[in-house]
Amino acid sequence: MTTHREIIIAGAGFAGICMAIRLREAHCTDLLILERNSAIGGTWYDNSYPGAACDVESHLYSFSFAPNPAWSRQFGPQQEILRYMDHCVDAYGLRDSIRLQSEVASATFEERTGLWHIATTGGQDYTARFFVSCSGGLSDPSYPAIPGIDTFSGHIFHSARWDHSYDYRDKRVAVIGTGASAIQIIPAIVDRVRKLEVFQRTPAWVIPKPDKAISSFRKAMYERLGFMRALYRWRLYWQHELMAIGFVVNPGLLRLFGKVAARHIRRAVQDPVLRKKLTPSYVIGCKRILLSNDYYPALQKSNVSVVTDGISEINSTGVRTVDGAQYDVDLIVLATGFQAAENITRFVAKGLGGRDLTEAWQHGAEAYLGTTVNGFPNMFLVVGPNTGLGHSSMLLMIEAQVGYIVQAIQQARQRSAIYLNVKKDVQQEYNRKLQDELSHSVWQSGGCHSWYQNKDGKNVTLWPGFTFTFMKRTKHFDPDQYDWATS
Ligand code: NAP
Repeated sequence: MTTHREIIIAGAGFAGICMAIRLREAHCTDLLILERNSAIGGTWYDNSYPGAACDVESHLYSFSFAPNPAWSRQFGPQQEILRYMDHCVDAYGLRDSIRLQSEVASATFEERTGLWHIATTGGQDYTARFFVSCSGGLSDPSYPAIPGIDTFSGHIFHSARWDHSYDYRDKRVAVIGTGASAIQIIPAIVDRVRKLEVFQRTPAWVIPKPDKAISSFRKAMYERLGFMRALYRWRLYWQHELMAIGFVVNPGLLRLFGKVAARHIRRAVQDPVLRKKLTPSYVIGCKRILLSNDYYPALQKSNVSVVTDGISEINSTGVRTVDGAQYDVDLIVLATGFQAAENITRFVAKGLGGRDLTEAWQHGAEAYLGTTVNGFPNMFLVVGPNTGLGHSSMLLMIEAQVGYIVQAIQQARQRSAIYLNVKKDVQQEYNRKLQDELSHSVWQSGGCHSWYQNKDGKNVTLWPGFTFTFMKRTKHFDPDQYDWATS
C-alpha cells in the first residue's frame, strides 16, 4: 500500500524537526518525517560516545524560536541536547508525524504527476508532492580502508556507532583518529582503560574550551528576563561571526587563533618530543579548530602513547605500524569521521528523465543556495552542498534554509504548480561565484586536506562567509530563479 503526504521529510535531526515545525506554522500540516533510527535526534542520537558534547555554545546551538534558559553548561552534553530535541518534538506536536525505523532507500520523481515516489529499506512506499532531505551532513561513518581490518579478533566500532554493551574498563584500547570526536572520547575514557594507544595521522590545532556550568542564578535570570538570554545569544552570534573574516576574507587574521593554540600547547605539553608530534604544520582553520581543556592532559597520562607512525595493517590481535611495531589491543575505536563530501544524500535519487543525483554530482555536489538542484524538481535539501560552517552554529543555516523552503512550497501551492525546478544557469552561476570565493579561503589555501573537500579537492561542504550573508540570500524566495510546470 502506498501512503500519500503533501510533504515527506527524510530525517528527524535538527534539520527535519525545524522543517516540520515551520511547515506546520505555515499551515502545511500534511507531512511526515521518515527517520532511519529508532529514536529522533539524528547525529546527536548517533554520536553517543563517552564525552560527547557540543563544541558551539548551547545558547547559540539551539533554535532561535525555542530558547532553553536551562542549559546546564556553556557547551551542552549530548544527552541534554537530545532532551532539548525531544522537548521541541513534543512542544510543537510533531511526535505523531514521525515514523521511526523508516530509512529512505530511494526517491524517484514522476514528471507527469509531479510526485516523488519514495521507498524505504523496510519496503514501505510513499508518494509526496514535495520531498525534503534532512539526512544530515555527518551521518554516515567513514570506515578506513586499512588492510586486515576485518581480521581483528577483538572488539571494533566507529565512534558514531558506540557499542555501550561493551565494557572498556581495564582494557587495552586503540583510538584511530584525532579529530573532534577523538579529542572528546580520549579524556572521557583515559582513566578507565588499562592502556590507550592513540593513532594520529595529522595533528589538530586545539584551543582552550571556555566551558563551565551555568549557575542557577544565571539560569533563573534567563528564565525571567528573556532579553538577557537574547542579549547573551546575540553576543555569542557576533563573537562567532567575527571568525568568518579570518576563514574567508583574510586568513592572516587567523594568526591570532594560531597564537592562542600555540600558547595552549606550550603550556599544556611539557615534553618537547610530544609537543612536536602534536603541533600541526598547516595553517590554523584549514581543518576544524578543536576546543578542549582535557585533551592534552589526557595524552600525557602514564597509560597513554601517541603513535604517529602510519598504520600498515590491522591484524587479529591489534594494529601494526609501518615501522613494524605491533600494538596489541582489546578494543579499536575508529574515530575516523564521516562521508561528508562524497555521499551527501543517503539514498538513490532520480530526477527528471530518470537522472541519478550521484551522476549529476560526479564532479562534486552542487545546489542553488545549498537547497535546490536543477533536474530534481520539488526536492529540497537542508544542510545541502556548501551550507556547512567552520565558525558557528549550523542551526543558523538550517533555520535560513527552512524559511526559504517554506516560501517555495507556498509559492508552488499558490500557482497550483505541478513542479518547480531551479534554472540550470542560475545554479551554475551561483556555484561559479561560490567556488571563486572558496578559492581564497584558508580551507583551500591552508596546506591541508580535510573532510570539507571531495576526492578532487573541491570544497563541497562549507559556506564561504558570514551566516548573515546566507540568511540575506535565503530570506526572500525569488520565483524567477525557477522554471514552473503548471497544468
Ligand atoms: P574528523 O574530524 O574527520 O577526524 C577523523 C580523524 O580520523 C582524523 O584525525 C583523520 O586523520 C583520522 N583518520 C581518518 N582516516 C584514517 C586512516 N585511514 N588512518 C588513520 N587516521 C585516519 O572526524 P570527527 O572527529 O568524527 O569529526 C567530524 C566532524 O564532526 C567535526 O569536524 C565536527 O564538525 C563534527 N563534530 C562535532 C562535535 C561537536 O560538536 N562536539 C564532535 C564531534 C564531531 P587526518 O586528519 O589525517 O585525515
